Amino acid sequence: MQNEELFRKVVSHAKEYGFVFPSSEIYDGLSAVYDYGQNGIELKRNIREYWWKSMVQLHQNIAGIDSAIFMHPKIWKASGHVDGFNDPMIDNKDSKKRYRADVLLEDHQEKLREKIQKEVDKAAKRFGDSFDEAMFRQTNPKLAEMSAAIDHIDQTLKGALESGELDRIRQLIEELGIVCPISGTRNWTEVRQFNLMYSTQMSAIENGEDNLYLRPETAQGIFVNFLNVQKTGRMKIPFGIAQTGKAFRNEIVARQFIIRMKEFEQMEMQYFCRPGTELEWYTYWKESRMRWHLALGTDPAKYRYHDHLKLAHYANAAVDIEFEFPFGFKEVEGIHSRTDFDLGRHEQFSGKKLRYFDPETNESYVPYVVETSIGLDRMFLVTLCNAYREEQVEGDVRTVLNFHPALAPVKAAILPLTKKDGLPELAEKIFEELKWDHHVYYEEKDTIGKRYRRMDAIGTPFCITVDHESLENGDVTLRHRDTMLQERVKIAALPELIGKACSMRSLLEASKD
Ligand code: ATP
Repeated sequence: MQNEELFRKVVSHAKEYGFVFPSSEIYDGLSAVYDYGQNGIELKRNIREYWWKSMVQLHQNIAGIDSAIFMHPKIWKASGHVDGFNDPMIDNKDSKKRYRADVLLEDHQEKLREKIQKEVDKAAKRFGDSFDEAMFRQTNPKLAEMSAAIDHIDQTLKGALESGELDRIRQLIEELGIVCPISGTRNWTEVRQFNLMYSTQMSAIENGEDNLYLRPETAQGIFVNFLNVQKTGRMKIPFGIAQTGKAFRNEIVARQFIIRMKEFEQMEMQYFCRPGTELEWYTYWKESRMRWHLALGTDPAKYRYHDHLKLAHYANAAVDIEFEFPFGFKEVEGIHSRTDFDLGRHEQFSGKKLRYFDPETNESYVPYVVETSIGLDRMFLVTLCNAYREEQVEGDVRTVLNFHPALAPVKAAILPLTKKDGLPELAEKIFEELKWDHHVYYEEKDTIGKRYRRMDAIGTPFCITVDHESLENGDVTLRHRDTMLQERVKIAALPELIGKACSMRSLLEASKD
C-alpha cells in the first residue's frame, strides 16, 4: 500500500470506529482541533496511564502534579515565550498559502535523504555482498553533494534564526528552487516571525496591560512549583516532577491530522539534578524513554534519535525521539538538558530564591534540569499507525488494529452465539464479572463473524463466545485477535487469563532495563 494511501486509511478508520472526530464537525469543523471518541478516549487514557505509572509510580523520586492552565503572565516573560516563541513564516503570493519556512527547508532535506537512500539501495543491489556502504557514502560524488546541501541548509537556518537575519532563509528557499506545493510557483513573500501563544484577559489583572496566555507547554507549571514540591515532599536531589495536561499553540500551518494541533496534551517530566551531573542524567533519560517506546513491541527500525543541531542557547544537549509515520520520520518526544536556565529566570523575574540546599556538599544552588516531553496525541497516532493492518482472509479484507493488549480500548467482547436459550443470560453474567477489572463489551447483534470483525477493527484482543455447550460445560470459545485462533477455556479461568494478557505490569516490566 502506498504510504499516503495508508495514512488516509488510518485517518478515516479513526473516525469510522470512534477514535478521533474533527471538532465541531456539524459546523464544518475547526482547523487543527480534534475530539476523541468512545474508543479513542480509552486508548488515550491507557497511553497516559502507561506513561504516568512508568514515570511517577515506578520512581520513588518523581512526584506528579496538576498545575493550572492559567498562570501569571510574567511566567511567559521569564520563560522566554513572549519574546521568543515564534515560528518563521513565509507566504506564497500566488496560492496565498502560509508555510513555516523552516519546515519547507526540512522537507527539502528529507527529500535529499530519501534520494541518498535510494542510491545506496541501488548500489547495494548492484554490488551484493561486497558492498561497503560507509565507503560508498564517503566516495560517491553525487551523495557527497547532497550531504553537503543538507549540512548547508542546517547551518544557514541556524545562523539566520540566531542572528534574526530572516531574509537569508528566504534566499535559501529561492536558491534551492523550493516551490509552493499548491501553486507550484516560487513567488514568495519575505519571512516573518509569528508568536504561537493564544492570549486572553483576566479581569483581576490591573490596568489591562498584561495579557494572560493559554500555556503553550506544561513545563512552566512544574518550574514554578519546584520549591512547593521539594519542600512538602521532602525531595532530595536528584528528583523529578511530572505532569500531563493540555497545551495550546497557534500553529499556523497545521497538518497531518493530530500531529500538529492547536489544542493538545503533553506529558512532561523535569528532572532536577546537581550541576555537572546533568549529562549523565540526560543519557539515562534518553535511553530510558526509548525503552518505554520499544516495550510496546514496535519494530526498532521505526524509531530513531535525532540530535538537535540548533541547540537553544540555554541547552547543552537535546535529542528528539522520532517515529516513522507513513509520511516519514517525525518527532514524538524531546529530551532536553536545559541547565539552570528555567529556575534561574524564574528567580530573576519573581525575586524569589529557587535554590536547593545540598546536604551532601553543604552548598546551595539552582539545580540543573533534564526534561522529557512527549505529546500524548502524537503518541496516540504512533500507536494507531503502528497497529493498523489489512489482511486477506478467505478472499476478504480483514482490518485489524493489533494494539498492545495493555493499551487496547476494549479488552474483551462477550458474545452470545444466539439471542435465545439462556445464552445472553450467561454472557451477561460473564460481562458482570469481568467489568470490575476491565473495559469489556457485550454484543448480541449480527452474525458472530461480523461481530469478530468489528472487534478486530477496534483492536479488542479477545472475543469470548458463549454457545450451547457453555451452558453444560462451563466453558467458552476464546478467540485471539492477532492469530484468529480459537480455544475452549473455562469461564472461571477468564479473569486471570485476560488480566495477565492485558496487564500494564508486564508492559512496565518490559520497559525497564
Ligand atoms: P515540533 O517541532 O514538531 O513543532 P516542538 O519541538 O515544538 O515540536 P516541543 O515544544 O518540544 O515540540 O513539545 C514536546 C512534544 O509535544 C513534541 O515532541 C510533540 O510530541 C508535542 N507537540 C508539540 N507541539 C504539538 C502540536 N501542535 N500538536 C500536537 N503535539 C505537539
